Amino acid sequence: MTELPEFHELTLPNGFSYKQPTGLFINNKFVPSIKKETIDTIDPSNGEKICSVYAASEEDVDVAVKAAKDAFKTTWRHTSGSDRGRLLVKLSELCERDTDKLAAIEAIDSGKPFEQNAKGDIGELYNVLRYYGGWADKVHGQTIPVDDNKLAYTVHEPYGVCGQIIPWNYPLCMLSWKIGPALAAGNTIVLKSAEQTPLSALYLCNLVVEAGFPAGVVNIISGLGPVAGSALSTHPLVSKIAFTGSTAVGQIIQKAASSNMKAVTLETGGKSPLVIFEDANLEQAVKWAAFGIFFNSGQVCTSNSRVLIQEPIYMKFIEKLKECIDSDYKQGLPFGDDTVMVGPQVSKQQQDRILKYIEIGKKEGAKVFTGGYKVTDDEVLAKGYFVKPTIFYDVTPEMTIFKEEIFGPVVSCIPFKTEEEAIELANDTLYGLAAALFSKDITRAHKVARELEAGMVWINSSNDSDFRVPFGGVKMSGIGRELGEYGLTNYTQTKAYHVNLGLKL
Ligand code: NAD
Repeated sequence: MTELPEFHELTLPNGFSYKQPTGLFINNKFVPSIKKETIDTIDPSNGEKICSVYAASEEDVDVAVKAAKDAFKTTWRHTSGSDRGRLLVKLSELCERDTDKLAAIEAIDSGKPFEQNAKGDIGELYNVLRYYGGWADKVHGQTIPVDDNKLAYTVHEPYGVCGQIIPWNYPLCMLSWKIGPALAAGNTIVLKSAEQTPLSALYLCNLVVEAGFPAGVVNIISGLGPVAGSALSTHPLVSKIAFTGSTAVGQIIQKAASSNMKAVTLETGGKSPLVIFEDANLEQAVKWAAFGIFFNSGQVCTSNSRVLIQEPIYMKFIEKLKECIDSDYKQGLPFGDDTVMVGPQVSKQQQDRILKYIEIGKKEGAKVFTGGYKVTDDEVLAKGYFVKPTIFYDVTPEMTIFKEEIFGPVVSCIPFKTEEEAIELANDTLYGLAAALFSKDITRAHKVARELEAGMVWINSSNDSDFRVPFGGVKMSGIGRELGEYGLTNYTQTKAYHVNLGLKL
């Protein structure tokens, strides 16, 4: 039990000073958790504590869900689509106005390089909110011709209260992917941020109030997964749960949701292949392969962590990939150098996990071409959770590093001979989030793309994401889609009406 101040006065390394809220954001107010439990949040670039915030218990989740339920009944379900849209667009504008502030908070809490990475995330945040603001007055059903002088039509209704659980790798982007479509469709929300990165979402709550959202529509809580996340996914008043994170927790949430048959969308893990045929533009393939595994320190669910290369260009590609890391993926602190591309991993736990996988890879016989260790040769970076970008080659499909999601800057390179072999290797995984392929032969590219078991395929590119285009996976990478119109559909349920227009009794 710890009493925290309502705000911490923080000054970030780029000189930005602000008041960091500590409370749970319920009914448009920051409140302490009932049991006064807290979590510490750590700067991953140096291992130092930034501050503590309140952590929600099961009782706090109950209060937040009831606030969301009341707001749904009394205000939000009667708020027109145009007004919901206006509020979302206003929130988007405020986020754009505060880009540098939000990016600085994101950078300190998650370790993202401020200039090259965190600022881009804020662009994603306000673009997604604006996009769904535009959808809010376009949520409608169909009129369906039927026989017997009857009229049949559908309406797309909101679920009511949506529970939303997000990870630490893209705190504000994931928040926008969740709250944007949910609010546009007329739901109220309780969102739990990741315990590693609670700060930016709490700051954003100030903007929710400034935008003019009615109390209780948006509720954002910090807290631990097995406590607050679990309470949210089992709460009987929550009608829909949306989750992004590990496959293991996704499975727990799916089970928990069955208690009251919540609708579920899951965006879980991946082990995405990137296939390079010998006729590919090699420079292009190298550029995108590097982006797809080293950006965001490899902490991306769609990262192309398995690169399959046709034999004649195998070693040439690997050499060029290393050159690309050396020239384009400078590792460093999140602030102070605008050219830094690769920051630390988000936590000591993630750093240890990645290093463990690297050791397993070596033990199982994969060869390290570059990297393969924790950064210790730089006195400043040694304090943080940095892992050197790593290329493994001569990886085989039986190896653990081929199979399991590492979630770090570690790529496994595997040679293949034929198109059939490439497809087999690419699909040899429990996951099915994304896949990329490089070839100048447009017929082959489309033919192979059709065979790849993935929710998204990039041709001559990798890791594109656009708020207008659906995002999500097949197999154990998830259920449902986020972004685009498909993402909106996942936040409504269809109600059918039959009207007797005749005199038939
Ligand atoms: P995680 O799945 O444990 O956490 C994600 C979110 O789920 C967090 O908000 C967490 O508090 C919550 N959570 C945890 N346990 C819960 C439970 N029992 N009930 C309800 N909510 C719960 O992920 P992690 O431990 O932070 O990371 C572990 C691995 O997950 C990573 O290495 C990576 O493989 C994967 N991951 C994937 C993504 C993605 O975008 N798909 C994002 C982050 C992590």
